[in-house]
Amino acid sequence: MCDKCFNTEIASFPSQDDYERFDLELTKKIANDKSIKMEQFVNTGWKDRGYQMYRCLVCEQLWKLSAPDYSDRGYFLRSSK
Ligand SMILES: [Zn+2]
Repeated sequence: MCDKCFNTEIASFPSQDDYERFDLELTKKIANDKSIKMEQFVNTGWKDRGYQMYRCLVCEQLWKLSAPDYSDRGYFLRSSK
């Protein structure tokens, strides 16, 4: 965790609007700041389990993002894998 990625984990997105605000921030970090990069799927099964991995290029922290889907509120959490 660092200022270039995110300082807090989100255990659950309170609303779709919160998720969309977060997604915009994440997209900016990837496209403009280039501080975060999306990790490729390499036979890991992340996609099947419903999440995507991101890596901070500054502090090397791995993050797991699950988008909200109906009653599933989604999350954005640190990952050690
Ligand atoms: Zn970072």
